Amino acid sequence: MKILSVNAGSSSLKFQMYEMPEEKVLISGLFERIGIDGSYTIKLNGEKIKKDVELKDHKAAVTILIEELINYGIVKSLDEISGVGHRVVHGGDKYTLSVLITEEVVKVLEELTPLAPLHNPANVLVINVFKELIKDAKQVAIFDTAFHQTMEEDTYLYPVPYEWYEKYSVRKYGFHGTSHRYVAERCAEILGKEDAKIITCHIGNGGSISAIKNGKCIDTSMGLSPNAGLMMGSRSGDIDASMILFMHQNAKMSIEEIDNALNKKSGLLGISGISSDSRDIEDGIKEGNERCILAQKMYIKKIINYIAQYYVELEGADAIVFTAGIGENSIDTRRDILAGLKVLGIEMDEEANNNRGKEMLITKSTSKIPCYVIPTDEEVMIARDTYNLAK
Ligand code: ADP
Repeated sequence: MKILSVNAGSSSLKFQMYEMPEEKVLISGLFERIGIDGSYTIKLNGEKIKKDVELKDHKAAVTILIEELINYGIVKSLDEISGVGHRVVHGGDKYTLSVLITEEVVKVLEELTPLAPLHNPANVLVINVFKELIKDAKQVAIFDTAFHQTMEEDTYLYPVPYEWYEKYSVRKYGFHGTSHRYVAERCAEILGKEDAKIITCHIGNGGSISAIKNGKCIDTSMGLSPNAGLMMGSRSGDIDASMILFMHQNAKMSIEEIDNALNKKSGLLGISGISSDSRDIEDGIKEGNERCILAQKMYIKKIINYIAQYYVELEGADAIVFTAGIGENSIDTRRDILAGLKVLGIEMDEEANNNRGKEMLITKSTSKIPCYVIPTDEEVMIARDTYNLAK
């Protein structure tokens, strides 16, 4: 069965086509700068093909994507595509699992737009284009928020007027759910323990940490929006909310300008003044740049604090997992985090940690908690859920 996994952003569209249930990737690619000018890259048989074309909207991208599937002989006709799985950012508190997309689901996604003003409209647009162009394929929504819906009320509510929750759905939702679910499932498999207590650290450009017990999320660091919890590439993460009014009154910034600064000019970028990319921060540290050293210290501290909090919340941990761009690749970041967790009896294996981008145990056998690097794979989760619902 051929399943297409789709991840659409406001100006990009990533895709992978799988043969399921074998989970074999047949072709993958990325459309970029949609609505600006446009280009796309296709990966096939280990080769990368890049083309510049005008992509005036998402429909243009999907049309080319379908043409290329036929051109490269991946499918002979479109009815071979049994399912299309869409990564959808916000499912609110309506969806706790992936679902088959019906007209009712599309309506709910539209209603949830205030919670994800940039992302949900792009998702709906792309879902409609696929519905129009590949009529017979089952379409499935895989939500970033769904995995976190198992949090208890006393965890997901903010201590603000209760009506904010009742009238405006203000609560903690959490994001990166598909990634946390993927690495937690894989980790439980490695441990051979279904009811394991696992702390998953998805640290990339965006970052979040989750506490997982028995395969269920009990807490996560992102909140109403992704700008909560950890310090990130360009996001502040947790701040004192009074800062917004303070900056509005004293720096004469508008609420939108402040929000933009907190999302795009803060985090590693805000403190270092150089870059949101952890590789640049690492280079700066090697050159003795004080602000890069400070940015990294603050970044590590936040991660350690969340791991410690979740260790207590879970009443222990069977494993800690690192994933995403930084978690999979930054040797220095992992070393600094694990050094800060020595009090929990964690002993890093220096030699093992000196690797990147592959599944590995990075602690010694004597470590009280084993720590793993598990490369995430959101696309395969999308394909699995789509296959299960479409078949
Ligand atoms: P996104 O949240 O955009 O999906 P990624 O998960 O791709 O982000 O992570 C991007 C981050 O991973 C960047 O900060 C980048 O510097 C970092 N990264 C990637 N490779 C390395 C590396 N070899 N060493 C250190 N950091 C790395």
